[in-house]
Amino acid sequence: MVSRVIPVEPFDLVIFGGTGDLARRKILPGLFRRFCAGQIQGDVRIIGAARAEMDTEGYRQFAAEAIAEFNQGHDCDHGEDQPASLKAFLAMLHYVVLDALGDEGWPKLKDLTRPGRIRAYYFSVAPRLFGPLAEKLHDIGMVDDKARIVVEKPFGRDLQSAKELNRAIATHFSEEQIYRIDHYLGKETVQNLMAIRFGNLLFEPLWNSQYIDHIQITVAEVVGIGTRGDYYDRAGAMRDMMQNHLMQLLCLIAMEPPAKFKPDAVRDEKLKVIRALDPVGPEDVVRGQYEGNGERPGYIHQVGNRDTKTESYVALRARVSNWRWAGTPFYLRTGKRLRERTSEIAVVFKDAPHSIFDEDSGRHSNILTIKLQPNEGIELGVTIKEPGPGGMRLVDVPLDMSFAEALGPEEADFPDAYERLIMDVIRGNQTLFMRGDEVEAAWAWTDAIIEGWKDRGEAPLTYATGSSGPDDALMLMHRDGRRWREIKA
Ligand code: NAD
Repeated sequence: MVSRVIPVEPFDLVIFGGTGDLARRKILPGLFRRFCAGQIQGDVRIIGAARAEMDTEGYRQFAAEAIAEFNQGHDCDHGEDQPASLKAFLAMLHYVVLDALGDEGWPKLKDLTRPGRIRAYYFSVAPRLFGPLAEKLHDIGMVDDKARIVVEKPFGRDLQSAKELNRAIATHFSEEQIYRIDHYLGKETVQNLMAIRFGNLLFEPLWNSQYIDHIQITVAEVVGIGTRGDYYDRAGAMRDMMQNHLMQLLCLIAMEPPAKFKPDAVRDEKLKVIRALDPVGPEDVVRGQYEGNGERPGYIHQVGNRDTKTESYVALRARVSNWRWAGTPFYLRTGKRLRERTSEIAVVFKDAPHSIFDEDSGRHSNILTIKLQPNEGIELGVTIKEPGPGGMRLVDVPLDMSFAEALGPEEADFPDAYERLIMDVIRGNQTLFMRGDEVEAAWAWTDAIIEGWKDRGEAPLTYATGSSGPDDALMLMHRDGRRWREIKA
């Protein structure tokens, strides 16, 4: 099967914060891969804009180094015409020394971008600069119908700050021009989840509380907070992961079929899910903080504050109060310094209503597992007869949908989430981006949980580095007669 790459219209892209970590690790290497794939063609300008003193030559060197470091193992990294491709890509790059809060650099930036073309402004900077950047772009006349902005997480730290951010950017850009990134939505498998649900007849009739016992969503990391302690200690797992990535996954699993795969149709349905979430009581949520293990320091030590009550782990039981999901709990957990790095959604179906087999054939249920990392793929656990002459013994085996086998290695070399999302920005497709009201509804739900912890003065429980989280999180499911799936890659 030959993959189809449809080139996007030529564009000007300004990366505010173009010398930052995100630009270096994701944006620039991702753009180069799309260039190698033939999706970026023609007269394109990619303009880094940041405070660092640098000229365009220096920025091209910076980009070349980032590409060498972060694009290893990808086709365009060792194709024969790699040097020529790189040279052609780097020729598209420009750099402007610019202060988001001052006047420096703005006239030069205005000269470099061209009115009437698609102009995308990527705000890869701290959120406090979103409002000033939007205002400045407007005031110096760089906003027209074809202009759009991309904003990164964190989008606020609570409902109030998210509203303020929404208001600040909405003053100068319409909702159709605002692309709020949640890179989980750019993952191939997440989109496949929608294809599987809405492109096949097989699953949708079973996709409700009559047939689904419960759903588990796990995003586990092995790393700790590293050097992000300052930011992380003000956020915690609830704000950093649950409010955005895990809730977005929950929405895609739980939403009603949209009438069309179109931005507002999809986002309307996701919003309805968030609005149908019950409040989470204290008995439905467990927080944790990792301990050190001799080799690696504990959370408290890393942030240098013995009294910190910020969680590096959170597990909760959510209920979506509507006809489809009444009685089917959603268990969500995410944390740092856990046993393995893995992200998955497991849809656990109910047992067959009556077993015709011997009692010792055990209990079996189908599980649909959507793996997001480290290897993307979808697996359906089915029960079959154990091969051999020894009578009717049952065994669970995976029906593994390995994209690499089914589609060939070329198609399974998925674009990174950022690559896809940036191309969607240029194409003007907002389906995989969060709408303002969605973000606010998600904050309203998580704020209440965070407020509860504060009011009760609750401190997180501790858990060992390399474990599956605090024991109480296991109890959260045991109480319901269920168990978490093992955290394994
Ligand atoms: P960073 O600190 O590495 O880089 C910040 C960039 O902003 C630098 O280029 C700096 O020069 C520029 N900058 C700072 N103040 C400026 C000003 N007044 N005017 C113009 N430029 C200014 O940050 P980062 O890790 O690249 O993150 C950027 C944004 O993306 C943040 O909002 C962050 O939360 C978000 N984000 C980052 C990652 C990641 O993996 N790094 C992931 C998700 C979200």
